[in-house]
Amino acid sequence: MSEFQELKKFLANKEKEINRGIKEIVEMDSPTFPSVGTNKIINYFSKKFKSSGIKCEKLKGTKGTGDHLLATVRGKRKNKSKILLIGHCDTVFPLQTSVKRPFKIREKTAYGPGVADMKSSLITCFHVIEFIQKNYLEKVGEIQILFNSDEERGNPSSRNIIEKLAKDTFAGLIIEPARANGSIVSSRKGSIIGKLEVHGIAAHSGVEPEKGASAIYEITRKIIEISKLKIKNGNINVTGLIGGERPNIIPEKAECLIELRALEQRILNETSEKIKKIIKKNTFITNTKSIYKIVDERPAMEFNKKTNALLKITESIYKKARLKFGHTSTGGGSDGNYLSALGIPVLDGLGPVGGNLHTELEYLQIDSISKRGAILGSLILQLSSSSKI
Ligand SMILES: [Zn+2]
Repeated sequence: MSEFQELKKFLANKEKEINRGIKEIVEMDSPTFPSVGTNKIINYFSKKFKSSGIKCEKLKGTKGTGDHLLATVRGKRKNKSKILLIGHCDTVFPLQTSVKRPFKIREKTAYGPGVADMKSSLITCFHVIEFIQKNYLEKVGEIQILFNSDEERGNPSSRNIIEKLAKDTFAGLIIEPARANGSIVSSRKGSIIGKLEVHGIAAHSGVEPEKGASAIYEITRKIIEISKLKIKNGNINVTGLIGGERPNIIPEKAECLIELRALEQRILNETSEKIKKIIKKNTFITNTKSIYKIVDERPAMEFNKKTNALLKITESIYKKARLKFGHTSTGGGSDGNYLSALGIPVLDGLGPVGGNLHTELEYLQIDSISKRGAILGSLILQLSSSSKI
């Protein structure tokens, strides 16, 4: 039996246990903040890894996030570099969501907050690693598994950890859910989010409007100029626009967020400079002042030669398993963006298949678990015996 078949059978036999595990952690509501739920999940997996004989340590969360978990499998192969798997245990849903909208299975589909993004990925990943630890230690070198608590908020606490772990990483495998059509993810847009604040001068808009300088007129004109920028494989979205306090006053203050996204880092950087220039150089309303600050950024996970090489290895596993292979790019960022920016080959979307992520309609295809888990495990084994990508 091939490694794929063995692992698929192992996971299929554990279907009840796996579904129970997913239910248990869906019921631990885990928004990024407050960290009570993410800490519960980290404790849950800490016990599970330890009871399977896998070394793991909790890494303290910072900036109000929960802790993160780093598990390490030390195989018998003497590889110089390791394989790094990353998942996140936070979701976009607030505490108590699972009480209002409990985990349920209908036919072959599961529902519940975070069921696909990415609680089923965490459980599947754990069992894949458990299987390798039990059966394939002689075939692998070092494998590290990081479950972080803050991906949905741009990794304020775990980004440093990911960047440190990247140093001796041979390949990064990110267990975000596969796309609804089963595709894995080969590239992701990066983002630069800036906050624009415009300060004007307040005045009575009926009696002496000439003494005022409208922050709203200024910010909206700047937004129009910014919206004219052409971005290859990217886009700009303006959100959080507020300004003016009440009627009869020329608005003294206005602000907005400018969200820039692109698949190529070079385009991101160039466009970001153009945005800065528009803001700095043009003043449409005299006596207004504009302040622009970058508040968040995530590098692009670009498609490159290394991605292609990793895809080829993955495709051969799909072929042997007689499964349809597909990959795609996507707009949202993930943990993979940070690894990729440091030159590490990365593939993403290696979790089970799900859809309608971040909505009440989020679902997971239960019968994708054993296949996708078996692909993930086979990929780890295959990469462990590769000397270069
Ligand atoms: Zn996710």
